[in-house]
Amino acid sequence: MGETVIETGMVLSATPVGEYDKRLVILTRERGRIAAFARGARRLNSPFMAGSRPFSFGSFELYEGRNSYTVSSMSISNYFTELSDDFMGALYGFYFLELADYYTRENVDGSRMLKLLYQSLRALLNCHIPDRLVKIIYELKTMSVNGEAPQVFSCTCCRGEEGPWKFSMARRGLLCEECAKKQKDGFRVSEAAVYTMQYIISSTVEKLYTFNVSDAVLRELDEMMELFCRVTIDKKMKSLEILKSMY
Ligand SMILES: [Zn+2]
Repeated sequence: MGETVIETGMVLSATPVGEYDKRLVILTRERGRIAAFARGARRLNSPFMAGSRPFSFGSFELYEGRNSYTVSSMSISNYFTELSDDFMGALYGFYFLELADYYTRENVDGSRMLKLLYQSLRALLNCHIPDRLVKIIYELKTMSVNGEAPQVFSCTCCRGEEGPWKFSMARRGLLCEECAKKQKDGFRVSEAAVYTMQYIISSTVEKLYTFNVSDAVLRELDEMMELFCRVTIDKKMKSLEILKSMY
């Protein structure tokens, strides 16, 4: 016999199924990323209609069947409707959802990723922080939460802590001046960029979106994260392609 569970979560994607239903992928706090059917969600008078969309965040009552979950009720506390009025913001948002989907699994605690995703979507709505910076922070912190962040606290070769620094994609992190002479792929990285990455990796989620950087550092981080994502993430993100075509 199945049981009913209540989970806090966010809808990452919603796909039409059959005539009236939807299949939701929900990132939940305790059960990680799960799939759940919202029966009748495409009927106009359905109580699931509004919440069965990407970005819907709240509490989901789920019936756990043998192979899948079925939504029995939902109480949405944030639909992130402001994102639908912000074209670029929504494109970034969809990419954030896709990246969260890539990095999460069923039955693996999803609490840190859920919190990070929620705060990052809120940061997209904050006009004081450029969306490009929010993207860099979210990407780097996502990798950090999942144990894939680059080594930016010391030289990946000799463990030395003295700059000036170069960054090596092959070694996935910093190289000091001496060690960089032996490694060919290192490129120069500014102290400000290194410090920013250190801050992002060591900061709590609550304090992540409380700073800004100069245009030069933003460009530097942008280029670096793009390369780093390419060597780290072995999936083509559809939403990222769309986002890049709009730059
Ligand atoms: Zn070194």
